[in-house]
Amino acid sequence: MSMQQLKETMELLHKGGAVPLNVVEAVNDLLEKVGQQPELWECPGCGFTYDACHEDIDPATGEGNGNHTCPLCELIDVDREQDRLRKALGDALKLMDKKFYGMAHKNLVEALGQEGEGNQ
Ligand SMILES: [Zn+2]
Repeated sequence: MSMQQLKETMELLHKGGAVPLNVVEAVNDLLEKVGQQPELWECPGCGFTYDACHEDIDPATGEGNGNHTCPLCELIDVDREQDRLRKALGDALKLMDKKFYGMAHKNLVEALGQEGEGNQ
């Protein structure tokens, strides 16, 4: 039953004398609330959706800046970054084992220099 149908049914029941007016009004109020769907923001990356009123906070003003960050994609990004750094460290340790300190240093510096890449 759609909301409109429910409304009409309540009206009919009320006219037939079965449902008191205050009950009809309460149902109508409730239906109106239910009908007020929040505006949703959908992540273009993964499709995760949440209430668009939760905007990113601008550190300068402390207020929403109109942008949205997907918490799921953010987690995936952090995971990826950790994996990358761990791999770079592993590679550097292997090189140091072979006393290739120069190469190990170069790898580490490169890994650190790429920090945040892919977030743009
Ligand atoms: Zn996402």
